[in-house]
Amino acid sequence: MKVFRRTIRVKTSKPVELINVTGEVEEVVRESGVRNGGVIVFSHHTTMGIYINEDEERLKRDIIDFLEKLAPKGAGYRHDEIDNNAHSHLRSILLNPSVWIPVSDGRLMTGTWQSIFLAEFDGPRSRSYTVQVMGE
Ligand code: ZN
Repeated sequence: MKVFRRTIRVKTSKPVELINVTGEVEEVVRESGVRNGGVIVFSHHTTMGIYINEDEERLKRDIIDFLEKLAPKGAGYRHDEIDNNAHSHLRSILLNPSVWIPVSDGRLMTGTWQSIFLAEFDGPRSRSYTVQVMGE
């Protein structure tokens, strides 16, 4: 089995930002030469989650609002006494630190409306994530 991995840096410019990285993931899969297997996209940060969903502007706003409602800023969290960003950590655990996507015939098996997003909740920040492709 072949394992091919690349760590990619991103800069966010807003407090909360959703970044579509599908193109970057496809590029790493292409470079890997893996035809059949899978790819994992993994966040290195405790305020950044990863999810798969539709890249539609109003839906992205809805996703941000939904997570803000579940974990509002400054709601008396203990971690805020340390660095005032407990809401960012809590929002990120509602997502996952990684997603796994099967690769078939050199292509991601994502559906038509599925895009891979990084969601950073404590920006602006310099962030990184790893794309690891495994297979034959
Ligand atoms: Zn913190």
